[in-house]
Amino acid sequence: MKHGNHEDTIVALETPAGTAAIAVIRLSGPASFPISSALFRSASGRTKDLATCKSHTLHYGRIVDGDTVIDEVLLSVFKAPKSYTGEDIVEVSCHGSVYIQQLLLSLFVKRGARLAEPGEFTMRAFLNRRLDLAQAEAVADLIAAESAGAHQVALQQMRGGFSNDIKKLRDELIHFASLIELELDFSEEDVQFADRKDLKKLVTHLLSTVLALAESFRLGHALKNGIPVVIAGKPNAGKSTLLNALLNDDRAIVSEIAGTTRDTIEEEIAIGGIMFRFIDTAGIRETADVIESLGVKRTFEKISSSAIVLYLFDPAEMKPAEVKKTLEELTAITASSRAAVIPVLNKSDLANDAMVKSFSGIENVMSISAKQQINTGLLVEKMLETVSHSKINFNQTIVVNARHREALENTATDLERVQKGLDTNVTGDFLASDIRQALYHLGLITGEISTDDLLENIFSRFCIGK
Ligand code: GDP
Repeated sequence: MKHGNHEDTIVALETPAGTAAIAVIRLSGPASFPISSALFRSASGRTKDLATCKSHTLHYGRIVDGDTVIDEVLLSVFKAPKSYTGEDIVEVSCHGSVYIQQLLLSLFVKRGARLAEPGEFTMRAFLNRRLDLAQAEAVADLIAAESAGAHQVALQQMRGGFSNDIKKLRDELIHFASLIELELDFSEEDVQFADRKDLKKLVTHLLSTVLALAESFRLGHALKNGIPVVIAGKPNAGKSTLLNALLNDDRAIVSEIAGTTRDTIEEEIAIGGIMFRFIDTAGIRETADVIESLGVKRTFEKISSSAIVLYLFDPAEMKPAEVKKTLEELTAITASSRAAVIPVLNKSDLANDAMVKSFSGIENVMSISAKQQINTGLLVEKMLETVSHSKINFNQTIVVNARHREALENTATDLERVQKGLDTNVTGDFLASDIRQALYHLGLITGEISTDDLLENIFSRFCIGK
């Protein structure tokens, strides 16, 4: 991908490939207007110089190839710099046959446009400062969002919420750095302009903000990718019944997708704006047995890669000690993934109080009836709690991008070094260098600092046309 070469005019299909009622083709670059004008005729058959038209206007007419009319279209004209990419843009809404789409694309290319690479429009928007890097990445997330939660977070980030937080942090750090560097200028005189106590307070505050942002990734990741859940338990514990109860819940949107790996089936439901992914529901439905084959590598992997393990048991079939032992095993398996293991006593409708009570020694045990749908709502709430202890506030900044989390964690490490430096009274130049490092890492998030490799990596993951 060429970076910073804005001389080319690029073109791509914006809408999905394939037949549709309407398709949209976008051109961006200095020759967008001349290329389009040469192919466009107004309704009365006259040529129109799009460069002289007002920005943000619509033009009805046809696309012609010599004397042949190709299609009736609607052209949108956006002039630099107030356009998505910051360049001159023409968007052509045409009829959505694959034939017309391909013909129009080839006409634009013949006139001098080049087919755009994945993410190239958005990369130009970034290079022309229409968006910062975090905002550009949010565009991809927004397109991919499958739940209300993922959508909210991406939208908030695209509109600059997260970027503003980072900018505020950078400004505070720069203020901090300037205090230290002022001191360096007068180092011979051994003066301290920056009150060490104030500096310490400031760095502690910055550090806690950065750490809170990094921590929010746990929730952000869950929002973006869904939360993998495994329902485990002996045959006949009620796993399928519970799954069906959850899936049939009218608050849930259900979709069945083929698992991305191996031959597993996953089912997804969105609850409270969060996507829960039930792993290997085929396995549950067919063999009705996950825990039995514990020790089998696949089952082990499934459980260890989930975020929530619902361990279901029938109190009439299990002794508390047996349940405890299995829970210990599950906790051991999930030690590295830190998954939440939730013990669930099922068939409470059949159990008497004494029986239920005999399991009360099991920490956090929930008592439900999957069949009668008793307390299944509470179980869902408990599942939501594992991602966020308080009610999720979509207006707060939530980090959804692993790249951002890494940059934040590196910033935190730099700030911890500054903190230590202040504690041990190191000289100002050491402090200043650590602060500069922290600024560098923060700058990577919004793209104040970027490399070709980084940009390539980010934008090549976009779809063509974005
Ligand atoms: P699985 O093998 O773990 O998937 O268990 P199933 O979901 O197939 O359930 C086994 C049997 O228990 C079925 O006959 C269900 O109708 C029954 N069952 C499941 N949950 C409950 C419940 O909460 N109460 C009652 N009374 N029966 C249940």
